[in-house]
Formats: sequence, structure tokens, C-alpha cells
Amino acid sequence: MSVSENITKFLNNEIPSNVKLIAVSKTKPVETILEAYQSGHRVYGENKVQELVTKYEQLPKDIEWHMIGHMQSNKVKYIAPFVSLIHGVDTFKLLKVINKEGRKNNRKLDCLLQFHIAKEETKFGLDMDEAIEFLKSDVFKNLEHVNICGVMGMATFTENEATIRAEFKELVHIFNELKKTFFSDNEDFKEISMGMSNDYKIAIEEGATMVRIGSILFGARNY
Ligand SMILES: *Cc1c(COP(=O)(O)O)cnc(C)c1O
Repeated sequence: MSVSENITKFLNNEIPSNVKLIAVSKTKPVETILEAYQSGHRVYGENKVQELVTKYEQLPKDIEWHMIGHMQSNKVKYIAPFVSLIHGVDTFKLLKVINKEGRKNNRKLDCLLQFHIAKEETKFGLDMDEAIEFLKSDVFKNLEHVNICGVMGMATFTENEATIRAEFKELVHIFNELKKTFFSDNEDFKEISMGMSNDYKIAIEEGATMVRIGSILFGARNY
């Protein structure tokens, strides 16, 4: 089956219409993304700034690009002019830089706060206490060029469904608490980005509004 057919089939059979599919095209060449594009799908995710910029330059401009990976502050400037959503905001230093680059580009940049929900130390993300402290601050209130649209998280890489489910439940809990305390009058704060090829079914059951899927659509990656 072609990549384009994979996407169509996946959208028709696996994803409720209220969940957004981010097709994760990292490591795949532009030819493959063009093939995927034939399906009509327009939302793609990358995890490296340089690769994202190169693909943005070479591919049709109606693609909505999502930055899903860990990002260094000094690279925000390269994607600020065109990126649709930055999923992995895991420090407030990064958020301040995103704000600065948003101002330079005269746009408000949509972001998700990434939370550390997995048992693995290697994964990135904020914890609730640091998030609350920052969201209460005047510094945060003055960031006029970022728009916080919700939260993102990655579950532990494990076969244990109960672990994954508990971690996704924790992210939903974090979302609900932040919504209630800081974002009750921000309609845009509504996204929960969770679920990848191995755990998207659980993520959708637990309330994901966005899933980030690579290998199911594009095949395994060779790094
Ligand atoms: C690579 C990646 C994905 C997609 O992973 P698959 O297992 O191929 O679906 C999702 N989210 C992030 C942050 C990634 O880096």
C-alpha cells in the first residue's frame, strides 16, 4: 500500500473526526511527503529544526508544520516565520524566546506545554509545580506573542498498557487543572497532544485531541 493510501485508511478507520492527526515525517525524504500529500492530508510533524526548515522550503506552502521535538532556544528563529504549532515547550526560557521571535515576525505563536509524565528520566518536560509558578507570574502575563493551546506528553515506552494509561490520565488531569486555574477564559487552550504509533489507541480513549503518528503511516525509520 502507498503512503497516501495508508494515511487515508488510517484517518478513516482509526481516528475519530475530533482528533487531529499529526503525520510525523521525520527522516523521510520530501518525495515521500509529497506522496503522502496526495491523500489530501496537510498536517505534518518534524522533530529537528533544520530538517523542518528544509522540508518547509521544498514542499507546498499549504502544509501545516508542527514542531514536535525538543528544541534549543537559539533555533526558534528559523521556524518562527511559518510554524503552526510548537508541541514541546519544556522550559520557560524557551517560551520567552518563542515570544521574542513571535514579536519579530509580527505573529502570535501557538504552543503546547510539554509535561514529564513518563517514568523515563531521558524524556523532557515540565512538572506541575514549575508550571504553576511560572503561569502565575507577571513575566508570563506579559508574553503577548505566544498562545498556549494546551499540553503535550509522551508515555513510557513499554508494553504495559496500565502504565501508559495512567500516564495519559495524568496528562489529562494536568490539562484540566491548568484549564480551570489559568486558562478558563482562553478558548484556544483545548489541545491534549498524546499518543504515537504504539499507544495512540489508549491516548484517544483517554482524551487526546491530537495524535502524533510516524511509523504506522510511513513505515519504520532507518536512522
Ligand atoms: C517520532 C515521534 C513521534 C512518532 O513516533 P512513531 O512511533 O513513529 O509514531 C511522535 N512524537 C514525537 C515527539 C516523536 O519524536
